[in-house]
Amino acid sequence: MLGGVLMCSLAVRAGGVARLDVIPAPRDAVAGASAFDPATAAVIAVSDNAEDRFAARGLMAALRETHGIDCPITLLASNSSNSHQLWLGTGNQMPSIPEVSQPEGYALAVGSTGVLVRARDDAGLFYGAQTLIQLLEQARREHAPIPGWTIRDWPNFAWRARYFDASQYFGSVVATRANLEHEITQLARYKLNWLCFDAYNFVPFASFPACANANTLSLADWNNLVELAHRNHVTLVPSLQSFAQIYDVIWTCDAGKPYREATAPGLICPSRPENVRFLQGLYTDLISVFKYSPVLGIGCSETGMQWGTNFCPLCKARMDHGETEEQIYCKHVRDCVEAVGLAAKQAGRAVRPMMWGDEFYMGYNGKRWTGIEMIPTNTIMGHWMYWPSYEYMSGLLQRGFDVFFLSATYQHNIYLVDLSPQTPSDGKWAPLLNSGVRNIADQAIQAAADNEKGFPARVIGGGCATFSQHDIRCWDTTWFAYLLQSEYSWGRPTNTDEAVMDSFIDKFAGVYYQARIPEAARVIAAAYRDLDAVKSDIERNNYLIHDIIGLYDLQDQGYNGNTLSNAIKSIDALAAQPQVPGKSLSEIRQRCENALRQTAAYRKQLPTILSDMDNVESLQFLISAPHKMENHVKRTLLLLDTSDAFRKMTSAPDAAAKEALGPTFSDLEKRCVDLRADTRILTDEIEDLTRTGGADFYRQALTQLDGLQQRLAAACQNAGNLEKR
Ligand SMILES: [Zn+2]
Repeated sequence: MLGGVLMCSLAVRAGGVARLDVIPAPRDAVAGASAFDPATAAVIAVSDNAEDRFAARGLMAALRETHGIDCPITLLASNSSNSHQLWLGTGNQMPSIPEVSQPEGYALAVGSTGVLVRARDDAGLFYGAQTLIQLLEQARREHAPIPGWTIRDWPNFAWRARYFDASQYFGSVVATRANLEHEITQLARYKLNWLCFDAYNFVPFASFPACANANTLSLADWNNLVELAHRNHVTLVPSLQSFAQIYDVIWTCDAGKPYREATAPGLICPSRPENVRFLQGLYTDLISVFKYSPVLGIGCSETGMQWGTNFCPLCKARMDHGETEEQIYCKHVRDCVEAVGLAAKQAGRAVRPMMWGDEFYMGYNGKRWTGIEMIPTNTIMGHWMYWPSYEYMSGLLQRGFDVFFLSATYQHNIYLVDLSPQTPSDGKWAPLLNSGVRNIADQAIQAAADNEKGFPARVIGGGCATFSQHDIRCWDTTWFAYLLQSEYSWGRPTNTDEAVMDSFIDKFAGVYYQARIPEAARVIAAAYRDLDAVKSDIERNNYLIHDIIGLYDLQDQGYNGNTLSNAIKSIDALAAQPQVPGKSLSEIRQRCENALRQTAAYRKQLPTILSDMDNVESLQFLISAPHKMENHVKRTLLLLDTSDAFRKMTSAPDAAAKEALGPTFSDLEKRCVDLRADTRILTDEIEDLTRTGGADFYRQALTQLDGLQQRLAAACQNAGNLEKR
């Protein structure tokens, strides 16, 4: 079976018409002869219900922006077939349109007098309207009518998500009401319908108000967000971690003391019955706030690794009486599942528990699947796996558990989202070669394939995560990953070939940045590709001299714990060895010089297209990427020259030769001062853009540059003293 992406491109080639710049790619699109010029639109007619009128208002606003036309909305008489309909046209001569019966699906037909969208449900009509809005944007971009498409489209997975761990974003732009509002409308635009998050104390608990602090949004904020999301066919899906990772709820306020596993910070004790009642109260609160969510997460992730052997006396006593750690864990999960059931019953609606299933499939302590038979199969298993292997998803399905899969763009988003985890390959921890964008595509492909194997359960959907520092450092370019998640969980793309990914970059550039002219989209696509190549070169250098500093929480050890003084030592060591092709000092330098040319070009070019796109805010973030890269490679060049100067100093045959190095050190010190100033400016800029700690990375650089400057100043003085003698 051909995937949606391929079928569309075949249709495009056969018809010889423009591409279909829509994300996610509609699964079945056939090009016809009669195009529609949106500039002639005179009416928006829509079926008369609140959800469809909302979709029509979105279309009306988009048409004002793309074509400067204010089209009145009229209401269609309701018909008995319960079909949802939206018409943008010149009159009421509507084209014929195919039937689409799948949930959330829609048909869209373009005729010479207008565009008709029809769906079986309101979500389907909304998604048809999103496709039409992107077609309007493409028509504006290309100064062309909308080609005569007939589209039949529906999602492959029912749940299509972005996920975030709230505690990692506290105090940043991500964990604000304004950003969540923005995210909700962005997700809806790309037909993602879940915003799933581990809540901690991001949400106020009526049953436990003591844990609220500056990070907690108000109930009014959440009520607004829940309704905004609902109108946009997005469900806010909360998860509450226990028994590990409940630090922000019970370890930051005195009232949390009685519930703690006192011997293991961040944990709740699984051996006190009152703790389960406590959790049930929190579940009741979440079910009440997130009144549209069919699911409540109970977390239960990464317990063993955080518990270690720090068992409290109660837990210890249970073990002394023969219970195993796994049995205590599984009993806790079962208690939480039961508590969700009771809280849901109390609320009078169906809510399924969802847990992160890693304790079962990850093989911690060399054990897999231990005790999973104790967990009721109405529990949805979250399968987070950020690089291959994905075979344990079928292990969960086989055991009767529905699955929600989670991928992540992760690790190498240093200045810009990583488009090429497979490059460079030399030095990288092997599993990471298929992480990031590969992980997003591959896991979705595996999940779709698993759904066709006749297991007793299903993969209901999937999402994409990333984590605080990895996200914030290159914010908001990680939206590339979320849009890729949409492409791979709505449609049915079957591969991750270079060509498929490559055409996605082009499409993303135009669609996400809402480019108004083709040239602007081309500049952005070229910027992503060229800057990604620069980033790969920076990584190549890092594997040799370890000069990317300030990172933490990476599986790739080449990035952790680096310092500028150790980088200089690595350069010294490289200089002392015979130069190996690909790993020579001159090639490190060449990469930096090439990077400076590229980054200078994009710092100049990107701002020139600001007025040629609607998504100006995202372009402001993108413009900071070449600046960050330039700052880094200037630092690398400074380190190379510093190492060289100190080596010359050491090998200088006499005082006069040492003295002659005075101006060199003076120049290096001046470069270091300039670089420090630039880093200071970058720190401010990142703090402004993200309102936080994405700048930690740069603050560490500042501290280390201070150290380097002192060393260079001392060397200057040393040369000066020589002069005086
Ligand atoms: Zn305990």
